Amino acid sequence: MSKIRVTVWNENIHEKAEGGWADLIRSFYPNGIHNAIAEGIAADDLDVKAVSLDMPEQGLPQDLLENTDVLFWWGHCGHDKVEDALVDRIQKRILEGMGLVVLHSGHYSKIFRRMLGTHCSLRWRECGEKERVWVVDKDHPIAQGVPDSFVIPHTEMYGEPFGIPPEAHVVFMSWYEGGNVFRSGVTFQRGQGKIFYFSPGHETFPIYRQPEVLKVLGNAARWAAQTLPNAKTDCWNQDPAPEKVYSENPMDKIDTSSLHKKA
Ligand code: ZN
Repeated sequence: MSKIRVTVWNENIHEKAEGGWADLIRSFYPNGIHNAIAEGIAADDLDVKAVSLDMPEQGLPQDLLENTDVLFWWGHCGHDKVEDALVDRIQKRILEGMGLVVLHSGHYSKIFRRMLGTHCSLRWRECGEKERVWVVDKDHPIAQGVPDSFVIPHTEMYGEPFGIPPEAHVVFMSWYEGGNVFRSGVTFQRGQGKIFYFSPGHETFPIYRQPEVLKVLGNAARWAAQTLPNAKTDCWNQDPAPEKVYSENPMDKIDTSSLHKKA
């Protein structure tokens, strides 16, 4: 069986910043969040690459995108730096069948908002409180091997209302010490592409070092992996029709082919 090709993308900005909080982030993630995730989910059936915004072509040249079955996305303060042309290329790949796993503050990334079509905003608070993540859909592939609930000792609170489309399938739900709740693990489908959003992952706590979190991410890679050949994402003409058309065509004497050409 061929391996699932996973590309973990990270804006990699906080990791290179100055200051006490940046030193703290580097103490958890000396090679960046992207490499920590790549190392954390490493397995025989996964071929994982870690890339970042500061690399050529913003880390995602077309040949890499075409050879990616699942794209992971971590972004926060650099959402606007991602070029719209890259977002177009990623969107096309998702509609063709590439999986997308959006993490934490990636809820506000261009690609997540593009794919969902809603504002994707939420309530938040940063005071280092406790989060308890509950499995809601225990039969879902992403929940396999994950405890019924687990604790993240210190987290950034992300709370409802979460501005995502109503068809969101809830796999995980979080409760916070301060009283809020949040749909912390949700799935969607766009075209042939599967999308999973998972909220735990604030940069100043070592959340991507927790085994339960890495279990969820590894499961997500396998669930979201592209399994079918690329789907068609453009329109195509079907003439002649599979059944005989008896109606007389009122446009029979006029050539309409130029109507369908780009202006
Ligand atoms: Zn955060």
